[in-house]
Amino acid sequence: MIVDLHCHSQFSDGQLSPSILIERAQLQGINLLALTDHDTVAGLVALHAAPRPSSLSIINGIELSTSWKKYIIHVLGLNIDPFNSALNLFIERQNQNRIQRGQQIGIQLGQCGIKDAYNKACMIAGHERVGRPHFAQLLIQEGYVADMKTAFKRYLSRGCPGYAPSVWADLTETVLQIRQANGLAVIAHPLKYKLTRAKLFELIIQFKVAGGVGIEVISGAMTMTQIAAVAAICQRFDLYASSGSDFHGDTVSRVALGRQATLPSTVKPIWEHWI
Ligand code: MN
Ligand code: MN
Ligand code: MN
Repeated sequence: MIVDLHCHSQFSDGQLSPSILIERAQLQGINLLALTDHDTVAGLVALHAAPRPSSLSIINGIELSTSWKKYIIHVLGLNIDPFNSALNLFIERQNQNRIQRGQQIGIQLGQCGIKDAYNKACMIAGHERVGRPHFAQLLIQEGYVADMKTAFKRYLSRGCPGYAPSVWADLTETVLQIRQANGLAVIAHPLKYKLTRAKLFELIIQFKVAGGVGIEVISGAMTMTQIAAVAAICQRFDLYASSGSDFHGDTVSRVALGRQATLPSTVKPIWEHWI
């Protein structure tokens, strides 16, 4: 059984359309695929509309950004109802907040003499839901800084002139939104946040109190040591284990669709719910 419960399409920051993703999944022999675009369910209609073999099942997913303490944590909602009205209102609110934040960054960069930054960042992104990486690209393009790292260090990080605070809903509300849309909440790529062990445990405990049930034991490229560490945490907190490539496209992803490592046998796969 080949499973991939985390990937992106052009509806967020992926390179492929949902129907090409389906073709790709078929090519890779995937049996269960979840599309988990960032903060949108817009790609799911096209995903279902694409022809697919009976050996391939689809799970409706989303990857939601949340605020937890000073961190931005990604939570997957798996098997959500994409037509749930409260979930759609929540997504819309998050997107409006993101637009406002982008505009605020634009105003502040304007005060540094960088003209029309928001509109230019929108051009770079191809849509109006711009994030800091788009502003960083702009700063590089216009010659203000040499690279991404410097763009953040001089302009975009907390305490810098182009910094505006993040706008995401908190962890608890996000998990509740997933649950009320009949989804299962899963902490995405737990090692990416570079939390201390104690902080990660604190995050998991709060996540579980809110009703979260899963953690990504496998996410993209990981070492055997990393997999063993997350599997142990998954067991310790009695969570379901998820697995995904976090595929964004051939030129940006190290792991192809469905080609992430297999789940250790010590953990309970979250897809037991759906097969
Ligand atoms: Mn992404
Ligand atoms: Mn993520
Ligand atoms: Mn992702």
